[in-house]
Amino acid sequence: MAYEALYTRGRPKTLLQLVGQEHISNALARAISGDKLSHAYLLVGTRGTGKTSTARLLAKAMNCDTVHEAQSAGRPLEKKEIPCNKCDSCLNFDSSPDNVEFDAASNRSVEDVNRLLSTAYLAPLRARVKTFIIDEVHMLSFEAVNSILKLIEEPPPNVAFFLATTEINKVPMTIRSRCQVLNFRLIPQQTIAPYLMKLARRLEVDLHEDAAKKIARLAEGSMRDALTCLDQCYAMADGQITLDDVNETLGLISDERLDEVIAAVRAKDRAAVAAAVTNAFSSGLGANAIAEALITRLRDIQFEMIARGEKNFSEQDRLIDALRKSVGEMYGSGIPEIILEMTLMKLVAPAQNFAAPIPTVQPTSTPVPENLDAGQKIFYDVVTSDGTDAALRSMLQKAVVTNFSDDTLTLTFKTSAMASTFKSTQLTNFEREASQAAGRAIKISVAVDENLPPPILNNMAEPDRTHLLNAMNIFRASDATIINE
Ligand SMILES: [Zn+2]
Repeated sequence: MAYEALYTRGRPKTLLQLVGQEHISNALARAISGDKLSHAYLLVGTRGTGKTSTARLLAKAMNCDTVHEAQSAGRPLEKKEIPCNKCDSCLNFDSSPDNVEFDAASNRSVEDVNRLLSTAYLAPLRARVKTFIIDEVHMLSFEAVNSILKLIEEPPPNVAFFLATTEINKVPMTIRSRCQVLNFRLIPQQTIAPYLMKLARRLEVDLHEDAAKKIARLAEGSMRDALTCLDQCYAMADGQITLDDVNETLGLISDERLDEVIAAVRAKDRAAVAAAVTNAFSSGLGANAIAEALITRLRDIQFEMIARGEKNFSEQDRLIDALRKSVGEMYGSGIPEIILEMTLMKLVAPAQNFAAPIPTVQPTSTPVPENLDAGQKIFYDVVTSDGTDAALRSMLQKAVVTNFSDDTLTLTFKTSAMASTFKSTQLTNFEREASQAAGRAIKISVAVDENLPPPILNNMAEPDRTHLLNAMNIFRASDATIINE
């Protein structure tokens, strides 16, 4: 017998089986019991959260004999009997010519849509209600939307529409305002994991709890993704599915290997880091995937720490920040492995950056201009202003404010090439923005200083920024070359 995918087998057959969307199934059960269904629904939510399944359940329920009998008799219906799945109408639903389903992503044009909706004005062949289920409705062309709109505004008798979308913001307001909107939530891991366990028992597979939890976590709120994952593992399984099976089948690295790397970094043991990284690479995963797995693992550990009531996350944050940055650097790089190794090695180096308090020392040789702070404030106002364009902002991120006197702000760059580029492309722009930020005319002068400390202040939070500013005041370019005079 052909194997039926879990994703199809796990699809809910009644409103009771609609997992993780009880707010929707309860409301719909009440509406059906009271015979108060709308003729147009907009189902909104991330992929795999049950939108199409719900649309099918509703379409089926609208035609179900048992539902109709209960409605006529005024008998309230339970979720497990919506629809009944036993009457003729339910049994023939899948092949019913009165239920039309299509994907707007591949039927975008007005011609496609008119063809598919052409039967809307004809009476249903067998069913009570003719139903149209349209997926990804935000993909429709403007004209196609208008065709649907006309039908929803003045619906022919006995027609119902179910429009599903992952991007509500792209659905025109005219459609949204004429439909009853059902918002689907991401399904929590705590709901997905037990559901997978239940499904596995039905399949007579011993799914280990940690394996189920891992799949639930990977699914990120999508039941369809969870079922597809379980399906892949099930196909390879030999009566049982362990955490290792999940990792192996899905090409993942085990938590133990990730924990080895994290422990080595925490222990500041360079040799152990090297060994753990080599071990991690032997999983066959690329550096990028490993870095992302490490970030996810650190996040999980952080949640465990929060649950234990721990308060200090600075080490945790330091690791996550460094790895996140390295992931960015890896894109488009030919040496992602080395970037990951170096990132981890650097984390092992004693925390010479701003973890330890840097004493505030006033420089003796170079007097600090009194209003350097005022200059820096103008600089930051420009950098953080929404009106500042990306090119200017990106140049400013390479610069440091080293002087501010007589309304002249000195920006220092590390190389003369950078300084020249800034002068020729962004100086006027910055002068204008700075004047606007200060509320008076500000002149800009450009300097070069090879020993300039890294201009990382833009991304730095207090008190680190103050520490660094103090340090910079000490180093500050007394010998900086002013090149624009
Ligand atoms: Zn039925």
